[in-house]
Amino acid sequence: MLTWRDLGLGRGAQGKEFMPKELHCPYCGVHGRFSRVFHGEAREMESGGALCSDIWQCLACANFTYVIWRNEAGYIDYRSYPAVHTHTAAHHPSWPEDAEHAYADALAALLTEDWDGAMVMARRAVAAVTVACGAPAGTLAQEVQALRDQGLVPNALTEWASAMPQLHAGPMPATAHHARETVRFARHLLDVVYTLPHDAKRYRYPAPSS
Ligand SMILES: [Zn+2]
Repeated sequence: MLTWRDLGLGRGAQGKEFMPKELHCPYCGVHGRFSRVFHGEAREMESGGALCSDIWQCLACANFTYVIWRNEAGYIDYRSYPAVHTHTAAHHPSWPEDAEHAYADALAALLTEDWDGAMVMARRAVAAVTVACGAPAGTLAQEVQALRDQGLVPNALTEWASAMPQLHAGPMPATAHHARETVRFARHLLDVVYTLPHDAKRYRYPAPSS
């Protein structure tokens, strides 16, 4: 069962609503040329947000693609059906390639309720970050702690990591809850270590004169 919570973990492009510029037609491969023929919204009681469903018609071959999307804090994340493996909205260009692949696989596993797979891949994404930052080998929670000692991540993240049993032991059977939590943790770690410094660099200010 698809849950709206899994959309938004990918975060995706900034904007108010889904635009088809990233969409590839699964039938003819043409990129970004679609006309919307249906738009529906379902209100989500808990958050007050909306889960949107669009049907887009390819302007080249006239076939239809179904897109579900959600706006979370100004970011649009989506899934399209039939699936094509060109969906890159989930990752950020600053991420290391192995972390990006592991995170994308973790998200894909969540959507098919493969909790073990999601957990394994989310752990791999976390490990890819800690290894890239030179953390000494240990449990994932210890490795995240080492990143804090380097000043790369805030206390909030290490406190969360130390409360997560799935980051202390080796691989363990995953529940839906633990799998989702691990994927979300991996996302925050990637954002803090890579996305945030990358985006902040775009807004360089001159040093204040004293
Ligand atoms: Zn087409």
